[in-house]
Amino acid sequence: MSFPSAPAGPVARLSALLEGRSRLAIITHYNPDGDAVGSSLGLAHVLRANGFAVDVVVPNAPAAFLNWLPGAADVLVFDRDREKATEALTNAGVVLCLDFNRQDRVGKAEEVLRSVPVKVLIDHHQDPEDFAAVAFSDTSACATCQMVYDIVCAMGLAHLIGPEAATCLYTGLVTDSGSFRFPSTKPHTMRVAADLMERGVNIEIVHGAIMDDNSEHRLRLLGFTLSERMTVLPELGTAILQLSQEDLKRFNFAPGDTEGFVNYGLSIRGIRLAAFFMERPDVVKVSLRSKGDLPVDQFTREHFNGGGHRNAAGGQSGEGLKGTLQRFMELLPRFINDHPA
Ligand code: 5GP
Ligand code: MN
Repeated sequence: MSFPSAPAGPVARLSALLEGRSRLAIITHYNPDGDAVGSSLGLAHVLRANGFAVDVVVPNAPAAFLNWLPGAADVLVFDRDREKATEALTNAGVVLCLDFNRQDRVGKAEEVLRSVPVKVLIDHHQDPEDFAAVAFSDTSACATCQMVYDIVCAMGLAHLIGPEAATCLYTGLVTDSGSFRFPSTKPHTMRVAADLMERGVNIEIVHGAIMDDNSEHRLRLLGFTLSERMTVLPELGTAILQLSQEDLKRFNFAPGDTEGFVNYGLSIRGIRLAAFFMERPDVVKVSLRSKGDLPVDQFTREHFNGGGHRNAAGGQSGEGLKGTLQRFMELLPRFINDHPA
């Protein structure tokens, strides 16, 4: 556990905070995506290589398309292994919070997380809550994985990024940047990707596992959603997708099956807002994507108890599918007209 170089600022404070500790824990957000799991596992590999015992906790199980990530089998799922996960969080000297910035984003682990005394935040979403002893918050970063890479390098630990860590970090870069096509993708992102590739990422395997490993059910559900459950409103530049519990059951829904569906709505010519409403047993999950200057993070924060990024945000509603859609339709014209293209 040594840090060869420790420049000034939060990086130095993080190094000082970790110095002398033996047990650490990493936690990420509910419904963890590629960046959440990739950054958590990537950082865990590096810190383990530096001598720490590191537990990775996720609030609920990640989608199956992330199971292949190196180290995924050892992740503690709070909803499933509550005792072990609680023990990991409470006995860690420091808990690192990755890819989320409000403590209510960790589902049922919230109470335990709030009780943890020393927390570190590494995240790229808007509007961070002030709960960490050391906070890295950069809304310009395309992925938390990119931030983890930069922090590890600034701590002088780049040599500890082996093929496994590199593969995890690269995965988050790919998933959060829409395969390097969202405007958050910067020349620096490409340089980080190139360095990770040199450290042993097999990009063909990563892309194959993420993009070309669909179940037949998922692909048929996508076809059904686009042909039967999508409404296009050209005058508002909006496409709306919706799926009920009944629809999901019909296609044997498994978590992660609807990942990316909303982006198809946004890919329609002339559309600058895509909304996806999915009925869950308890709530309706809302996913919004936009192009240009349409701040969907603000919209979900104000109306759907959520947040995220300017062009990609999510939230939820307790009003049922019909009620949620009705309220969305009432709010939509004003939101669109307040932000002309
Ligand atoms: P998705 O629509 O894929 O679930 O999420 C898009 C973005 O919005 C992600 O960056 C995610 O972290 C954020 N997000 C999704 N759901 C919520 C939510 O309920 N609350 C907040 N604050 N952010 C969310
Ligand atoms: Mn992210």
